[in-house]
Amino acid sequence: MAAENTPMLQQYRRIKAEYPDTILFFRMGDFYEMFFEDAEIASKALQITLTSRHASQNTPPVPLCGVPYHAVDNYLARMIRQGFRVAICEQVEDPKTAKGIVKREVVRVVTPGTALDATILDARENNYIAAVFSPAMLGEKPSQKDQLVGVALIDLSTGEFYLGELSGVMRFQRLLDELQRFEPKEVVVPESHAYSQQTEEQRVLADYKAACVTSYPDRAFQLRAAKQVLLDHFQVHSLAGFGVQEASSGLSAAGALLQYIQETQKSALPHIRKLSLLRHDEFMLIDFATQRNLELYRTINDHARAGSLLGLLDKTMTSMGARMLQKWLRYPLVRIADIQARLDAVEELKKDTIVRGDLRDLLKGVHDLERLITRLTLSAANARDLVALKLSCLRLPEFRRLLSALKSPLIAEQVENCDELQDVAQLIDRAIMDEPPLTLREGKLIKPGYNAELDELRVISKEGKHWIADLERKEKERSGIASLKVKYNKVFGYFIEITKPNLHLVPDDYIIKQTLVNATRFITPELKEYESKVLGAEDRIVELEYSLFQELRQSVSHEVERVLRTAETIAVLDVLAALAEVADRNLYVKPEVSDSDRLDITEGRHPVIEQMKLDEPFIPNDTRMDCNENRLLIITGPNMAGKSTYIRQVALITLMAQLGSFVPAKRAEIGTVDRIFTRIGASDNLSRGESTFMVEMNETANILNNATQRSLIILDEIGRGTSTFDGMSIAWAVAEFINNREILGARALFATHYHELTELATLLTGVKNYNVAVKEWNDQVIFLRKIIEGGADQSYGIQVARLAGLPAAVIRRAKEILADLEQDRHGEAEHHFTKPAATSTASSRKKSVAPKEQMSLFGERPHPVVARLKDLDINALTPLEALNLLQQLQKEC
Ligand code: ATP
Repeated sequence: MAAENTPMLQQYRRIKAEYPDTILFFRMGDFYEMFFEDAEIASKALQITLTSRHASQNTPPVPLCGVPYHAVDNYLARMIRQGFRVAICEQVEDPKTAKGIVKREVVRVVTPGTALDATILDARENNYIAAVFSPAMLGEKPSQKDQLVGVALIDLSTGEFYLGELSGVMRFQRLLDELQRFEPKEVVVPESHAYSQQTEEQRVLADYKAACVTSYPDRAFQLRAAKQVLLDHFQVHSLAGFGVQEASSGLSAAGALLQYIQETQKSALPHIRKLSLLRHDEFMLIDFATQRNLELYRTINDHARAGSLLGLLDKTMTSMGARMLQKWLRYPLVRIADIQARLDAVEELKKDTIVRGDLRDLLKGVHDLERLITRLTLSAANARDLVALKLSCLRLPEFRRLLSALKSPLIAEQVENCDELQDVAQLIDRAIMDEPPLTLREGKLIKPGYNAELDELRVISKEGKHWIADLERKEKERSGIASLKVKYNKVFGYFIEITKPNLHLVPDDYIIKQTLVNATRFITPELKEYESKVLGAEDRIVELEYSLFQELRQSVSHEVERVLRTAETIAVLDVLAALAEVADRNLYVKPEVSDSDRLDITEGRHPVIEQMKLDEPFIPNDTRMDCNENRLLIITGPNMAGKSTYIRQVALITLMAQLGSFVPAKRAEIGTVDRIFTRIGASDNLSRGESTFMVEMNETANILNNATQRSLIILDEIGRGTSTFDGMSIAWAVAEFINNREILGARALFATHYHELTELATLLTGVKNYNVAVKEWNDQVIFLRKIIEGGADQSYGIQVARLAGLPAAVIRRAKEILADLEQDRHGEAEHHFTKPAATSTASSRKKSVAPKEQMSLFGERPHPVVARLKDLDINALTPLEALNLLQQLQKEC
């Protein structure tokens, strides 16, 4: 693009050069224009017309497209959703007064992780941006101590800021878990990392597909620089107060992330008030596979919220509450006292239906305080946001009145911490009109009586308008022209219009301004004098209202800390009320939570499946587990019987109890767990070159390496992705490992089709067999859905296949083959899976338990050579005959 050297294009190029990785929205009058490559990209992304214009005669045409400024939010949202970064470049001086080309500046860069606009954000979800850092990402060879991966997360729209460090051999898996847990829309990494060799971090980011990856200069990640950014931001001398001073990789990530956001927002981000360490010891750990397998936030199939546990529990009334609930679900508790406090609060609200109903009504009128105050502090709020804040604050005293009689300490604590912000409400109420316009530059924002100068200007403007309105009457009388009219337009201001037939009556002091076909427009010196009074006053009013609004916005934003504290209390009350509501509607009970090792559930139900409209009623089931006699429950039973549902329901009930929710059961005693692990289903990870079986084994390895005795493990089949004997051997060994108290001894539920595993119960203490009962009737299988003690004796796979609609011929043939196989099985012991000796020590576990042979589909007939050998009378052969026979047999093989 050679010499498109108009001053405006020069200005464009200069600004664009500073923001090369963005699409530049370049403000020109009432439009944001995009040029060159940006125009080509944006026109496609936004499906708007791409045009071109010649900047001058001798230059090639410049491609361009544009969007109107008043609708920019929608276009911006579409760009951001497609993963683009957009730099908003505004005219920063008044075009009327500008000398030469209007000065323009980028006022902010909007990226997927830093969006603030309500059209882009989902109110019920956080919008995180992350930064990931490790010395290895800068190509440094990390010392043992530095083998930590730092991760930082910010939700710009609410001011949350977290930092964490992941260590150990599983740190990359943990990093992925962490990303999946927070679901950041954008991940910031050091620049040189983007060009480095394949690193583990890159593999994690490739696995975590949902984010746009942004590279940022390496120097921002240098510990010293990063720390300084944090110290300056929080205006402290040390980060010790946040408990994060040791986390060097985490600090590098946090400092760089903060700097990146400051730069894109062109703001000091005053609403980010604290930095919290992501601590794993205070919460139950749920790795990504488990989050996905238990469908905690989204369903596996269509990735929808409805149908997930979150979708079920989310009866919150505010978006703050919805986001808080998701946090509770991400981080279930482990400390009994904390869990108990939540459960007691839910219990009280469940019982008191009237208070609960009133509380939920009250919550309904509270706007999103977190996002409102964020927009205020970032000067992105309009007058309607202030009114929303006021209306929300006005509700706050009601909470105290309503809840003061409740006994729950957690509720009392919220009431205590809820700053009612009445001063803020009054301030806004005195200043801002009750129904202000969306725009800030057209007046009508500030109430009368708030500012004396403004009131005076309004009087002047009003009187001037009255005078002008009166002028028409006076001039009609004076001139005798009945059709005389005083009119106004933007170009001429006020004027007097006289129609052609009456022109001869025009008074002498009228000055001609414009001649039209049928009329002529005049002004008088007096009219112009009043006009300048009126228009001057109106301009001044708009200016003054805007600056009064800005002052007010500024002073309200100083209350950010108070507003955020209140927001948190409201969110907690909202979640507690929602959990009470769900418990009441769905007939849940309060679990007894203790630090015993017992999981004792009477008539437990699967919370999500029981709510589905099934053809049959949901059948509840009991569970008894502990770390002694009932450690490992092997669940067998036909396909479709309900094994997966049952083992998931135990995990979900445990998780619900630990997040503070009542549970779907008649009675439940939950000895808390530190982690829940699941290995369920089959999925390829082809992008990482891993097969179904490899994924399955990775997940299993993760469990065996990270589970503790206090963990709960859910295994839905292991080893199905390989040959029967390999799979069965692995399943057997995994079961032994988990059950072995010297190694692990965790509580586990293992659903399997390998009936051979039921033998474990006779060999090992701690293993119990259960199966899902079915009834056979006329070659049909009827599912009873009841979990009973003992192992299943059959799979009924073929009957279930018939239910699924497999052609009758296939079913018939499958039965024949099955009969054949079963006969061979009984007839030929050598083709059986040889049960390994039950072992309970680590050393004997190392012994191979894999069977020597793979089972063939049809039992083998003896080879003719074998048959001849068997029949041979060796004593009757000479040595030469024996040699000849050997040679012949060899040929026959
Ligand atoms: P497979 O071995 O084929 O994976 P499965 O034994 O794991 O089967 P599930 O997937 O748990 O079976 O259950 C199949 C269906 O049965 C569920 O989708 C649900 O509709 C129904 N179901 C499961 N448990 C119950 C129950 N307790 N009460 C009523 N219906 C149930």
